[in-house]
Amino acid sequence: MRAGESTRELGVYVHIPFCETLCPYCDFAVSVQREIPHQAYVDRVKAEIAARAREFEGHRAVTIYFGGGTPSLLHVEALAELLAAVREAVVVDPGVEITLEANPNQLSAPNLEAWRALGIERLSVGCQSFNDRHLKALRRNHDRARALAGVERALAVMERVSIDLMFGGPGQTLSEWEEDLGEMQRLVEERGLSHVSAYNLTVEPGTAFWIRQKRGRLKLPEEDLSATMLERLGERAREVGLWRYEVSNYARAGAESRHNSGYWLRRPYVGLGVGAHGLAVAADGRSRRRSNTRRYRAYMEQGDPGAPQSEERLSPRESFVEHLFLGARSRLGLDVGALLESYAAVLSPRDEVRVWETLRELAGLGLMEEVQGLWRPTLRGLDLGDTVAERLFEAGSPEPSEGLSE
Ligand code: SF4
Repeated sequence: MRAGESTRELGVYVHIPFCETLCPYCDFAVSVQREIPHQAYVDRVKAEIAARAREFEGHRAVTIYFGGGTPSLLHVEALAELLAAVREAVVVDPGVEITLEANPNQLSAPNLEAWRALGIERLSVGCQSFNDRHLKALRRNHDRARALAGVERALAVMERVSIDLMFGGPGQTLSEWEEDLGEMQRLVEERGLSHVSAYNLTVEPGTAFWIRQKRGRLKLPEEDLSATMLERLGERAREVGLWRYEVSNYARAGAESRHNSGYWLRRPYVGLGVGAHGLAVAADGRSRRRSNTRRYRAYMEQGDPGAPQSEERLSPRESFVEHLFLGARSRLGLDVGALLESYAAVLSPRDEVRVWETLRELAGLGLMEEVQGLWRPTLRGLDLGDTVAERLFEAGSPEPSEGLSE
């Protein structure tokens, strides 16, 4: 079958869990090893691809995303082998977006050229900051000079580059954050940076920061200061033409991450590797979420290479509800009329009225808006995303007298 011929769009996510050190705030599925077992991991993921071959049938990959961990630590030959295995398993769209997450330490000219030659056209670089004091406080293993030089080299070679920034780290001041935003603006204006993901540091249970916080030895900026940092980020991104299209993502129009947008638009995706998640959607509206074990050794040694650690089956009605409230998480816009139509078999006229009434109510509160026939949260609605999602969840769910599993 040729690409585009009656196939459904699919995202492919490949998790590469290796990192050189464990960052004290990290809650991802990560494995820190003296020697990275490149070939063993590639062989294991290839076995998973083979075992799950049926999940690729009838689809064409529109995005392939290598996330981590630190995928840029993987040898180029290993990446090439994984990409070839994906291309063999699924039809790949000619316009596919292929992204690699990279640490600034690996952004050498030879690496960049080799990745480009593999067809990787988008890099997501984990800078976090350009301030040496802040980078040290976050225990990152790169410094300002490496981050800046690496990003500039990447921008010269890659078609699209995104940087990750983090605010609200230990002892961070507003002026340090303004410095980071200044570098961000310069990279956009002078070097063509087109995408920024910016996260407020959150302290996850079980991390080193969490332990320090419990012992009273972690000083983070007050909530008010973090809110000001977020506000300044929005203002300075806008000044250089980046629009906020999702809670933490800012891009030039047209440079949005197609892979991550798929999560909000509920496009099916296959997640491969340690800790990877996936979503399968059947033609009748039922769907299935699954995830692999987050433990490296368990993943490497499990008997059935395609077996998930957990699986959740969603009825068409539950799938509809999820689709509706996920749409409130990004500003890409949701065609609510088309969505209601595609789930008409499980919705009553009264259900549809409740959805429209809720949207109008949220619009009245300044939290949602309709733009060119698509519904999306306003910037305020994005900041109050949990409230909006909760209201949409209620609006889409059956009324208490009905059941949810239809
Ligand atoms: S580099 Fe990223 S994935 Fe690796 S430990 Fe640090 S935060 Fe976690």
